[in-house]
Parts: sequence; structure tokens; C-alpha cells
Amino acid sequence: TNLVVGLTGGIGSGKTTVANIFAELGIELVDADIVAREVVAIGSLGLTKITQHFGADILNSDSTLNRAKLREHIFSKPEELEWLNALLHPIIRAEMLKQLDNTRSPYSILIAPLLFENGLDRLVDRTLLVDISPEQQRNRTKIRDSVTAEQIQKIIDSQASREEKLSKADDVIDNHGERSALRNKVVALHNNYLKLSNNT
Ligand code: ATP
Repeated sequence: TNLVVGLTGGIGSGKTTVANIFAELGIELVDADIVAREVVAIGSLGLTKITQHFGADILNSDSTLNRAKLREHIFSKPEELEWLNALLHPIIRAEMLKQLDNTRSPYSILIAPLLFENGLDRLVDRTLLVDISPEQQRNRTKIRDSVTAEQIQKIIDSQASREEKLSKADDVIDNHGERSALRNKVVALHNNYLKLSNNT
């Protein structure tokens, strides 16, 4: 199995922007958010179990998972949230590992906004943080999304602090500068990861 780098960063930090540069360099990516959706897609074991547990009411008319209904079911019911996590976390992990195992690039990247918060750093060989200040997070998220300052702040507060992430990450990309400054930083990391992957 080849080297796996876990790419993380808070809301609006620039993970997707950085990941796109790695992809241009030929590196294959696995996205934790996409995997989390795939494991409850129509026909999945996850969705079958959820339907057995909560009843067919949990589905939309097109048989997809009704996420709003699911949120209602687990909201203020810790035992239901626990049940759901116990079901989905192992499935998500196994699926991420399977997809990473199927990559063919010299190393691969797992992109996960909650890499440290969800303990996914234990599944990767190295961690890479896209770092920006909370102020920049607020500015860039505000420009991108039509959400209120309060909603953005709630998400920032629900994620690990900048300091905690900085202390845990093996590598850090500073994304306070211009977009154009990112590419050289990513290329430098890419060359380092190529070296590391040759030595493993
Ligand atoms: P999320 O977790 O919220 O999906 P993300 O970490 O994937 O966010 P991006 O979507 O890559 O972050 O970046 C957030 C916004 O900031 C985007 O609109 C992106 O185009 C912009 N952006 C990224 N890097 C820079 C930069 N260096 N300068 C200006 N804008 C940037």
C-alpha cells in the first residue's frame, strides 16, 4: 500500500482549492464527505439498515435518505445518534480504506474537513493542514456561501481550534496569501511526498 496524506482545514480554509492542485499533479483523491454520502446511497447496506431501524418514513418519495427526517430522529436522542454512528463509522472507514487502496498514483490524499475531530488521522501516514485565521475563514466563506455570520461562526466553533490543528499537523500550507502563491507551496509538498513514497 502506498503513502496516504490526510488533507484537512476548517471551513473556507482552501482544502478544495489545494486538493485541485494535487489532482492536476496527477494525485488521486478520496473525499471523506463523498464517501459519507455513498454509504447511504440507494441500495447501500447503510441505507437498508437505517430504513429497518427508523421505518420507511425515513425515505424521500424517490427512495433516497431524507436527511432532514434523520436529523429530527437523532436530534436530542443521544442513543439514536450513537446507534447511527456505530452503524456508519465502520462502514465509512472501510470504504475510505478500500478506495485509497485502489488508487494508482505514487501517493494518495484523503480529504477530510474533520480529519482530527473524527480520528481519521489514524488512518493516514501524514497529515497536511490548510491554515488560515478565523477572520479569513469568515471572509472567504461569506463570499462563497449565502450563510449568515452566525452560521459560519457556529461551524467554526464546532471544529477543532486553529491551535489544536496546527499542533497536530505534520505539514502546514499557509493560505493567507494570494491564490497564485498556493501552487508553488503545493508543488514543494508534492515533491516531498514523492520522495517519501519512494522510501516506503
Ligand atoms: P469548505 O470546507 O467550507 O468546503 P474548503 O476548505 O474546501 O472549504 P475552498 O472552497 O477551497 O475551501 O476555499 C474557500 C473559498 O475561498 C473559495 O471560494 C475559494 O475559491 C477561496 N479561496 C481559496 N484560497 C484562496 C486565496 N488564497 N485567496 C482568495 N480566495 C481563496
